[in-house]
Amino acid sequence: MTTNRTFTMIKPDAVANGHIGAIINDITAAGFKIVAMKYTKLTEETAGQFYAVHAARPFYKDLVSFMSSGPIVAMILEKDNAIEDFRTLIGATNPADAAEGTIRNKYAVSIDANAVHGSDSDENAQIEGDFFFTAAERF
Ligand code: UDP
Ligand code: MG
Repeated sequence: MTTNRTFTMIKPDAVANGHIGAIINDITAAGFKIVAMKYTKLTEETAGQFYAVHAARPFYKDLVSFMSSGPIVAMILEKDNAIEDFRTLIGATNPADAAEGTIRNKYAVSIDANAVHGSDSDENAQIEGDFFFTAAERF
């Protein structure tokens, strides 16, 4: 299945550091349309569910703890080639490797506190969007 949507979160570090507005501006300036948006906070339980795919990885516990440490902004975004173009816009997982001008290059603190999430496939974008938004909250 191919769609033109992706899912993102502005992570607790970027919210705490006052980057919500700048990040949304970068996202919309790059041509993404916001389909759904929510300011909320994950618990350890919901963060654990969201990142269940990484449960076996050594950083999982720290990731769940970090992602439930403060509020986040969840969004469903729409654009042609959304998954790939959004991964390009945010840059590499480790901000030290993220290309100049990318969101992680500009706003991330470290490999764990890396400012934003971006879905890695159409299938996961659907699953992740459904995790945060009911059918009535999307259009
Ligand atoms: N992460 C981490 N340490 C690592 C790799 C990943 O803390 O060595 C965190 C980081 O916040 C990353 C998330 O786990 O964004 C999910 O990892 P993934 O490999 O899916 O990276 P992404 O798709 O976010 O670039
Ligand atoms: Mg990923």
